[in-house]
Amino acid sequence: MARTAKIAKSLKKPKFKVRVRNRCRVCGRARGYIRKFQMCRICFRGMALNAAAAKHQRVDVPVSKLKTEIARILKEEGYISTYKMVEENKSRKTLRIFLKYTPDRRSVITGMKRISRPGQRNYLGSRDVRPVVGGLGINILTTPKGVMTGRSARKSNVGGEILCEVW
Ligand SMILES: [Zn+2]
Repeated sequence: MARTAKIAKSLKKPKFKVRVRNRCRVCGRARGYIRKFQMCRICFRGMALNAAAAKHQRVDVPVSKLKTEIARILKEEGYISTYKMVEENKSRKTLRIFLKYTPDRRSVITGMKRISRPGQRNYLGSRDVRPVVGGLGINILTTPKGVMTGRSARKSNVGGEILCEVW
């Protein structure tokens, strides 16, 4: 069905009660509806990619050494406002990341991309580290000298596994 027609249909009250369907609030799609976000899967995916679906102030993730290191770099580079360790109970710790938004409520992080994956590892020498989005973004590497940005890896002449790009 055409886009405008679908939106029009989603606004119209159905003739019979049994014909009521959950419809995407954005595009009116009747299938693949995600109730929690009142959106279809396609719109949800688009929004989630922009990290705009929730506009959360913070996210909690199970803590790990690597994630803490990545959070440290994101904070240093100004992509998140801060992070801290929260102890839920003795055995479980979580890493709470406080996201950063611009005054007009857009996320500071425009995008991020995982580079090296368990299925396909990606290593770079120090001289092969390339700027991300013309130098506006950063890449995060694990090197023998610790987790660092591509820029500092280049500077300190170490290569490593390239984890992700953030811009
Ligand atoms: Zn939709």
